[in-house]
Amino acid sequence: MSAPLIPPRLRDDCFAMPQGVAWVPVDEALRRLRAALRPVAGVETVPSHAARGRILASDALAQRSNPPRANAAVDGYGFAHAATGAGIQRLPLVSGRAAAGQPFQGAVPPGHAVRILTGAMLPEGVDTVVLEEDCALGEGLVAFDGPIKPRANTRKAGEDVVQGALALPAGQRLRAPDLALLSALGLGEVQVQRKLRVGVLSTGDEIIASAGAPALPHQIWDANRPMLLALAEAWDCAPVDLGHVRDDRAAIAARLDAGARDCDVILTSGGASAGDEDHVSALLKARGTLSSWRIALKPGRPLALATWDGAAVFGLPGNPVAALVCALIFARPALSLMAGAGWQEPQGFTVPAAFSKRKKPGRREYLRARLVDGAAQVFASEGSGRISGLSWADGLVELPDEAIDVAPGSAVRFLPYTGFGI
Ligand code: AMP
Ligand code: MG
Repeated sequence: MSAPLIPPRLRDDCFAMPQGVAWVPVDEALRRLRAALRPVAGVETVPSHAARGRILASDALAQRSNPPRANAAVDGYGFAHAATGAGIQRLPLVSGRAAAGQPFQGAVPPGHAVRILTGAMLPEGVDTVVLEEDCALGEGLVAFDGPIKPRANTRKAGEDVVQGALALPAGQRLRAPDLALLSALGLGEVQVQRKLRVGVLSTGDEIIASAGAPALPHQIWDANRPMLLALAEAWDCAPVDLGHVRDDRAAIAARLDAGARDCDVILTSGGASAGDEDHVSALLKARGTLSSWRIALKPGRPLALATWDGAAVFGLPGNPVAALVCALIFARPALSLMAGAGWQEPQGFTVPAAFSKRKKPGRREYLRARLVDGAAQVFASEGSGRISGLSWADGLVELPDEAIDVAPGSAVRFLPYTGFGI
């Protein structure tokens, strides 16, 4: 285990927007966010079988070549190519066989053949294999039609990866296939970034923290906290439940203090606008570390970005639809960068629209959408309080900052939830 790396914390003014900026286009906001952030996590060593979702902190180099030795790619008969030619070949079979995990003992003389099975190391004297389906077997003999190409049906030592070669680079987020590679190359342990600790805090006098707990008609159950905690989990961060606080500055400050001790990043929801009860933004402003970004985005504005005792704070809108869109568009790439995996663009693709919409210029727009027969349908209501639409959807349709007239069949960009890693 290596010594823990203590990274620098964020500067207080890292999110500052230039003076006079009124509405920031989404791409510009993303550029600024990317420039303001840097990786914060430390490093630890974990068994590679338990490393799914972790981010490599150093390059993984092959401990051994794959395959370590030349071996057979099929079941058949192995021989030295040099002793064969064109036309019918009849080779005497040596006794014994070569199987995966059971190497043939001894050498196969030129002009002889040996029974060999897929994955078996080529015995000494064997460089070529003929497929068993292409052979006839007689008394101690195997016959096939030549010529066979030299090294046919064999795998060269190191043809996949050579010992010492770069298997996976630092910054790679490990997926199931990557674990196969690490294991095949003899890497039992890997150095990975410590998981980014992501605190989630809900604010609002109307919010009841636990779903199903008694709620009066003016109260609503917290929809954002479970969603944001689940996003942090899906993004392979370490979620930290900071609970719910009322719209009370002292209470919010105390919870942020606690959150900054235990977390690298804090996602708050609610209270981020400039209204009377928007205590999160007021508080962050009072501490002098707020940069309220008026992003030209629907749904979503406002997004408050701040630092609190060195932890990055994303003040997301309270509205669950806007909270999700802002989390997917802004928090996901930011968290990925802070976790050491680099900025992460969502994966999307162009599909025909199955809806009509006339969009005005000025703001980028994200619609709850799903694909039906390859075309994007959008949720019946654009109402930002319609949480059922988030769950109905399989992704978002992204409409450009400019005006656009969408008719059925128009090309639109679809960003599936899976492309956001959820
Ligand atoms: P706010 O950003 O605090 O002005 O809240 C905007 C809207 O989102 C209001 O209708 C709030 O009741 C609602 N809201 C805020 N936080 C949550 C939450 N955690 N779960 C569900 N709705 C919320
Ligand atoms: Mg509120």
